Amino acid sequence: MFTTCAFCSGALGGDGGDSGLGVGRRFAFDGWKSRAWVICQRCARWNLTPYDERLEVIAALDRMASAGRVAATSDQVALVRLGAYDIVRVGQPPRPEMATWRYGERIKARQKEKMKVVVPVAIAVVGLSVAVNVALGGSMGAFIGQVPNLANNIYTGMVGYRKVPIEPPICARCGAVMVLRAKHVSDARLQHTARSDLALLLRCPKCRDEGALLEGADAEIALRSGLTYQNLRKAGKLKKRAADAARQVDMFGGPAAYLTRQALREVRVSTYKGAEALALEMSVDEQAEVRELERQWQDAEEIADIADNLLVDPTIEDELRHLKEGNQPDG
Ligand SMILES: [Zn+2]
Ligand SMILES: [Zn+2]
Repeated sequence: MFTTCAFCSGALGGDGGDSGLGVGRRFAFDGWKSRAWVICQRCARWNLTPYDERLEVIAALDRMASAGRVAATSDQVALVRLGAYDIVRVGQPPRPEMATWRYGERIKARQKEKMKVVVPVAIAVVGLSVAVNVALGGSMGAFIGQVPNLANNIYTGMVGYRKVPIEPPICARCGAVMVLRAKHVSDARLQHTARSDLALLLRCPKCRDEGALLEGADAEIALRSGLTYQNLRKAGKLKKRAADAARQVDMFGGPAAYLTRQALREVRVSTYKGAEALALEMSVDEQAEVRELERQWQDAEEIADIADNLLVDPTIEDELRHLKEGNQPDG
């Protein structure tokens, strides 16, 4: 069995779980076309598994998928999570359900990222205040009590100041290039347009008018950045809020339906608070991920077509057998 990615040579990582592959943490399979892949965690490309073991692997992945929880679906692809493993099922997606545990894990990862900034900032601030207090001969207790808040605010400010990674639109009112920061997205309004289930009407940071409309993937990217910032500012009882948020998404029949419903309300992003803001972030995250998986699957599918057609060509199969007999691979 292969252990490295055919595209980037990175280690495929993971132990394969119950797939029988012995490698990988994220898999994809198409039972109908008899295809199975290990998805590289480094470059995200899909590595087609060897033809002769595929039926058992597909059966095993199918069992894993039935035991897992469906996180999101698109027309062609369902993303199923099972413990540490992700299984992408290509074909008819089953009924959407939401996984609450997963959001909890994401929040934990976010807290870790935050600590990387908060701790050094806190130490720097304490260092500074000690120096200042020693110089002034004052008491520093009051000031040190403020340090965690100050460090938190610095971190939140950093996230809010992050550029939204899209091509900056031009403001239709004042002609300015709208370089968007995450914090600007709170002023945007959700929209439902003829071309896009989820669009964002942006307020220009310069003239404060509604000056540009984002649709499709750009709207998703901007909304994700904005909500990450917005949800970070109010990080209270996360566990309960994540469960409430997942329930809300469930009630509407999954992330896609939830987003469409919210877009029709046409309200500002800043209107969303608490569990509702988390539900929106969760939905837009899952939809963006499953859309990306669908795109990757189309690429992988083209390669698989070529590879499998080569294998069923009898002359090439003879050739391969000949090569195999003469030259045993070491792995
Ligand atoms: Zn790779
Ligand atoms: Zn403007």
